[in-house]
Order: sequence, then structure tokens, then C-alpha cells
Amino acid sequence: MAHLPQLKNSRVFMRFVFYSLVVLLVFSCKKAKEPNTIYDIVIEGARVIDPETQTDSVLNVAIQNDKIAILTTESLKGKKVIDGRDKILSPGFIDLHAHGQTNLENEYQVFDGVTTALELEIGIDTLKQYYQARTGNALLNFGASACQLAYRNKVIVKDDRVYNTIYEELNDSAVNVALTEDKFSRLREKLKDALNYGAIGIGVPVGYLPNASIKEIEDVYAFAGTHNIPVFSHIREGGAIAFQQAISDAILNKTQLHLCHLPSMARKDIAFCLDAVEKAQALGFPISTELYPYTAGNTEIGSAIFNEGWQERLGCTYQDLQWVETGERLTPETFKTYRKKGGSVIVHMMKEKWVDSAMASKTTMIASDGGSYSPLGHPRSSGTFCKTIHTYVKEKQLITINNAIEKMTLMPAKVLEGIVPDMKLRGRTQPGSYADLLLFNLDDIKDNATYTKGFQKSSGMDYVIVNGKILIEHGELQVNLFPGKAIKSQLNL
Ligand SMILES: [Zn+2]
Repeated sequence: MAHLPQLKNSRVFMRFVFYSLVVLLVFSCKKAKEPNTIYDIVIEGARVIDPETQTDSVLNVAIQNDKIAILTTESLKGKKVIDGRDKILSPGFIDLHAHGQTNLENEYQVFDGVTTALELEIGIDTLKQYYQARTGNALLNFGASACQLAYRNKVIVKDDRVYNTIYEELNDSAVNVALTEDKFSRLREKLKDALNYGAIGIGVPVGYLPNASIKEIEDVYAFAGTHNIPVFSHIREGGAIAFQQAISDAILNKTQLHLCHLPSMARKDIAFCLDAVEKAQALGFPISTELYPYTAGNTEIGSAIFNEGWQERLGCTYQDLQWVETGERLTPETFKTYRKKGGSVIVHMMKEKWVDSAMASKTTMIASDGGSYSPLGHPRSSGTFCKTIHTYVKEKQLITINNAIEKMTLMPAKVLEGIVPDMKLRGRTQPGSYADLLLFNLDDIKDNATYTKGFQKSSGMDYVIVNGKILIEHGELQVNLFPGKAIKSQLNL
């Protein structure tokens, strides 16, 4: 369509004008402030990067309470003054896909630069207890989606069943059963309850529900579309066709859709799938996607992913499966034994060039898909964000540090702004934004987790600040500090 480029250009121009005004406003406001104000924290002389205003300048930054008060070239007074010279000051990283939701995993995530870790792909069944238990006790900002997987299992099998872990949800025999149409409304009721309690979207991991009907899934999208709720989905197996189905469900039902871990779903169809997301976005549909920067996936061996025919579907063999408990590669015999027992398995199934092309795409953001702590667990749980910088910015130079920061801060924040307006104040380094901040020397950033070493803390984060509280200082985690806040929706459905 001929009018599109023009529209795009004028939009780009308007955006330029808007941000120029914002920058002008930001820097002109400074002088109006009391010159004698003493701020809680001042960071001096850092290279401040803000992906939204495209700020990339050496500035002084002040924090008051839990927010950024000011960015300026003028000198500032603070109760605490941090030397930011030769360092980057970036918004804290926002992970939309973190299954590890306790302070044990948070301890690893914070060294990787994460200040907000959310469980959106699957969600949490016991959402109310989760929010209650973590409020006031969390290292990082936290939140979760409504768990379609658990609720549809309950509606099929036993209404008052409680799932405490993803493991229990995925290993339930109900995942192999279709939800019949007469029960759709019961599922909607459960989704409503969770959303009214603060769930930030609906997790729809249909890839783990091989017999869920097209209608069953479409009904969830329709419900979400009606109420402006984003869907986060691990889509069906099937590469390009599965992407087309999910995108079609989203567009036909006016539903916001976030496609989880694109490379592991698209595999050999990666170019087609990236293109499909790009086209949908260019047409204005709220469809987003993510990747973790590794060539292996990680899932439950007891899940439906490993139902008959998995080798063909995943394009891998027993040898490509790595048992997390011991690190051993599997054989047909050990596969059978462990599938009966249940547990976590790393699946080596992707090509490096697939991950590279997803990383280089403008449409993707970074999300870890990290799991619960296990010494030999997938390295993505503790190394995703620093690996993005170390491997893809510094070594391969596929993206710039500014691109990387946008993929890890502003882009995920924007996915949530509809359902959590407060997210407009995260993922940014602007006056009035929450002081979720990282201070680091680019040369020092390195992931240390590997497939053989498992959970290892990343190195290079000099300071990590969460809601104005210094959680990492000079590379050391501070004790007895729990600055994390609940990220919740405020719905009344
Ligand atoms: Zn997944």
C-alpha cells in the first residue's frame, strides 16, 4: 500500500518532534530546581542511556525516594554520591519470562541486571497467596499472569485442585484432554477471578496442550480481547503454521499477543516467523516477541512436549537431551526412566544462526525463560541479560549497547503499559521514572553460567538500584533489603 511509507515517515517525524520537546523540557526544568536540594542519591558523570528519548549523554542523576528526580549537566548534592565516570547508567532490565519467582532466583537475576522479574508465559495458580507472600519480602519487582493451564486442568479434572508448581501443572494427565465447550464459561470465571486479583495478562501455553481444540484456545483469546488483556503464549508446535494460527487468533479477536521464545518455536522457519511478527507490527497490531540468547531450550520431561513423535517435532534425538539433575545426556533407556519420574531437561535443538537472526531483528526483546534454582539448571536463568551484552554487543557486534538496552527495558515495559499503566514509569531513565537503575562498565559485563556449570552469577554490575534502594553496591549484594514491589493490574471485570 503506497500510503504506508508516507504515514511511517510522518510518524517518525512526529516522534522526533515529541522527543525533542521531551528532551528540551527535561533539560530546561533542571535550572528551575532549588540549587540547594540535597537528594537521597546522586550519580555523577555516568553515560546515561534512555531508549525512549534516545538520550545517550554524560549527565548527573539524582534519586529522591523511589524515583529519578533530575538529570542534568549541573552539579547536584546528595546524601550519597556515586561516581559514575566511565560507566553506563541504564534502566534496570525487565524480564517478562522468569519462572523462578523466589528470592533464591532473584539473587541470581539481580547480578544479571534484572530489576523486574515476571512470570507471564505460564502464570501462577495460587496468585493471591503469591502476591501476599512476596509483598514486602521480594528483592526484585515481581508479578504473574493468570494461569490458563492450571484453571483449564481444574475445570476438566477437579475444581479445587491446587497446583504449587509448573511441574505439577505440566505433568497432570488433564493436559492431554480437550476442554469441552460447555466448560468454557467456567474457565472464563477463573480467569476473571485471577485478573481481578491483579494478574497481569493471561498465560496460554497451548504448546503443552496438544489436544486443546482450536475453539478452546480461540475462546481465551476472545475473552482477553474483549477485556483488553494481553495474552502471553508458548504457541503450538508446528513452526510457521503455529505462528499463523496464534497471530490470526490475536488479530481476529483484537487481542494483544506476546509470543514467547520465538527461536525455539520457529526453528527452521525463523525468517518467516520474524517477518510475520514484523508485518503484524507494521500494520499496527499489538503483537510482540522475545528470545533467550541460547541454542538450547529447557522444559519438563514429563510434559506433552515429549509425547510420541517428539524427535521429529523438535528435530533432535536422545543425545540432545541433558538431564538437569546430573548433567548427563540421555539414552532411550534413561529417557524412559526419567519421563516416568519427571524432572527438568535441557534440549539442545537450535542453530546459532537462528538465535543470531532473532537477536538482530528490531522486533524482538530479551526474556530469560529462566527456571527455579537447580545447581545444573539452564544457564539462561542466571546469564541471559549479561550474555546478550557480552556475546551479541561486544563479541559478535550484532547489536549496539543502545539496541540491547532497549530490548531489555523499554520494549518489555511497553508490552505491559496497557494492563499496568505504572509500567510507563519503568524501563526508562527519565525524571519521574522509578529509580530501577544499573551502573556498569561495559568492559566488565560477562555472563558466567554455562551448560556444564549451571546457575552462576553474572559479573560486572557495579550498582543495581531497585525502587531507589541500592541492592548491589560495588558488586556486592546488600543484606536484609527487600525493595521489590508487586506489579499488578487494577481490573474490575
Ligand atoms: Zn515456553
